[in-house]
Amino acid sequence: MTRSARLLLTLMLVVLAAGTTAAARETLPVPVTGHEVTRIGPGYYTFRYTGTRNIFLITDDGVIVTDPISPEAAGVMRREIARLTDLPVKYVVYSHDHWDHILGAAIFVDEGAQVISHENCLASFYDMPHPDLVRPDWTFSGDYDLSLGERTLHLRYLGRNHGNCLVIMTPDHVNVPFIVDLATPGGMPLPMIPDYSLHNWVRTLLILESWDWEYSVNGHGIALAPKALLAERRRYLQALIGETGRRLDAGVAMDEIPAQVRDALREDFGHLRNFEAWAPYNVQRVITYFGMGW
Ligand SMILES: [Zn+2]
Repeated sequence: MTRSARLLLTLMLVVLAAGTTAAARETLPVPVTGHEVTRIGPGYYTFRYTGTRNIFLITDDGVIVTDPISPEAAGVMRREIARLTDLPVKYVVYSHDHWDHILGAAIFVDEGAQVISHENCLASFYDMPHPDLVRPDWTFSGDYDLSLGERTLHLRYLGRNHGNCLVIMTPDHVNVPFIVDLATPGGMPLPMIPDYSLHNWVRTLLILESWDWEYSVNGHGIALAPKALLAERRRYLQALIGETGRRLDAGVAMDEIPAQVRDALREDFGHLRNFEAWAPYNVQRVITYFGMGW
């Protein structure tokens, strides 16, 4: 990426950041052991298995589950659902194409459920098959409204961001969206920020912030996260990209940039889990982004 292109992108990110709310600055727990079911609203639940969570909807005509997580997690979830209803699982909806969320759907297929994903996930499923990955029975493009019984689950695709097939899921009767991997409340992005398009990630978070909602369920972390924590992730990314880009433009030695950027970000973001250890890796990833346009 050229210096002018980098400057333009940095400016765009800074302008987009104007007028945003202050940091929540909370150090939050991250649940990583056991499992739990939390009721979000009528028939609307989130299931957490170790560090990963999903949502499921119980309707008059059956159950819609989302990311099965793993064969072990899916088995535990199936037993938890059976404690709430005798109705069968009719649909399994994948949030995106990553193995840490969507393995283990077979147990639901065995009881007659159909597996669904955005059509863009198919390329990954054929390129990277996995013995515990069930390919979807059918796919959709753009947005899709999945109806069962008296409920509808809105599936919204916002373009490339984390992979290229991620959908935001919101039931029509409870305005709490399920947002996977775009924000983890109180956490840092993973060290090498795997499979994220950085500017599209920021773009998507700004879209999500513009939507009318107060709390979301996320693919990792606490059951219900206020919107301020999603905004905090977006502000971290903008600061990370901006501070790294400025040093590249200034000709700072490459091996000095990670520690310098971490120092620059510490006041606003030092409370995020794993900040000290992971921030330098995040910076390395941004250097690659500016160098390769990737
Ligand atoms: Zn993912």
